[in-house]
Amino acid sequence: MTNSVWQPGPVDAVREAEAVVVGGGIAGVAAALYLRERGLRPVLVEAKTVAAGASGRNAGFVLTGTAEHYVAAVERYGHDRARLAWSASVANRARLLAVAESLGVPLERCGSMLACVDADEAAAARVSARLLAEDGFEGRFESSDPLRRGFVGALVKPGDAALDPVRLVQALSRASGAAILERCPVYHVAPGVIWSAAGEVRAPLVIVAAGPHTPHLLPPLAGTIAPVRAQMLATGPGPRVLDTLVYANYGYDYMRQLPDGRFLAGGSRDHAVAEEVGFEDRVTAPVQEAIAAFMRRHFPDIGAPVAARWSGVMEFTADLLPLVGPVPGMPGVYVCAGFSGHGLAFALEAAARVVACALDGASPGVFDLDR
Ligand SMILES: Cc1cc2nc3c(=O)[nH]c(=O)nc-3n(C[C@H](O)[C@H](O)[C@H](O)COP(=O)(O)OP(=O)(O)OC[C@H]3O[C@@H](n4cnc5c(N)ncnc54)[C@H](O)[C@@H]3O)c2cc1C
Repeated sequence: MTNSVWQPGPVDAVREAEAVVVGGGIAGVAAALYLRERGLRPVLVEAKTVAAGASGRNAGFVLTGTAEHYVAAVERYGHDRARLAWSASVANRARLLAVAESLGVPLERCGSMLACVDADEAAAARVSARLLAEDGFEGRFESSDPLRRGFVGALVKPGDAALDPVRLVQALSRASGAAILERCPVYHVAPGVIWSAAGEVRAPLVIVAAGPHTPHLLPPLAGTIAPVRAQMLATGPGPRVLDTLVYANYGYDYMRQLPDGRFLAGGSRDHAVAEEVGFEDRVTAPVQEAIAAFMRRHFPDIGAPVAARWSGVMEFTADLLPLVGPVPGMPGVYVCAGFSGHGLAFALEAAARVVACALDGASPGVFDLDR
């Protein structure tokens, strides 16, 4: 919203900053934190409130790896790039667990399992486990279901973890020491300046981490990031039935039980791929029913009724890897976005790389948007 000259409001406000970050999701607050560690005090500008986007709506799975089984990543990227992408997520998990611990964000070190729903997926998991072992990564294949819940095998990663994503993002934002402008949409980004509802912020360095909205602010990146909706549900508290993170059906379905007994389930986007695109924050009956059916198929003993349903908008790139680096034709403007449903697997490492890229000229490596 803008203000006319007759309305009260900061039409003429101009701030000077050493750096400005657009977006208060996990990528933006992590970038602000790493700027602070390099001695800069950024201004962070957020259209709604910190963690209002996907970063506050996700399942809280801190997984290693890309969205697919490792064997599929090797096929998609080639072995060297797949190894680099996986290494980046391993580095990300180490960063995330360390910073969460240091900031007092509760962590569940519960591990994860990629639970296979059919023989084809089990075959992919088996080959993935071999490739992961050859490349020195964690991942153990089990040919029968370790949970005895109707899966046909699993790839187990004991080092994965879970947390409350809102607590994480809020803790990172406080630790960053950034001057935070909330309820303050940015309308336009140009080299050295952004225009927002609170006026201009001038800074030699601009980092845009606006999730699925990123291309609206960075025209050279038009068409590189697609908005994809994800839906979840939560039951009320019930007896403990699950002690690990379940990421199943090629990642299309996921489940977790919170320490207080509430059971979380999400995904089932494969039931409505064409409908689950765009920016609309809404739940739909077909996807919610599919999520509930998957949950009840494997956990028929969950008695507690569904108590909450929600959606969030993810930001997918064509190759499912984040986009990090200088924006072509916009000197001093950098992007850190495109986590393709895996922000907790990549965003801290991506934020560290975008800061190193901007301040030291370091390469963003496998995230380089010039790929
Ligand atoms: C239901 C669901 C479950 C998920 N589960 C997991 C999971 O378990 N593990 C995992 O790793 N990932 C998961 N994800 C994906 C993960 O949440 C995202 O990858 C991650 O949050 C993206 O972070 P981000 O900072 O890039 O974007 P966002 O969190 O979307 O943050 C972008 C911010 O920019 C702000 N913004 C946008 N436009 C403007 C503007 N013009 N001016 C100012 N601010 C602006 C937005 O308001 C928003 O706060 C899930 C996502 C969803 C929706």
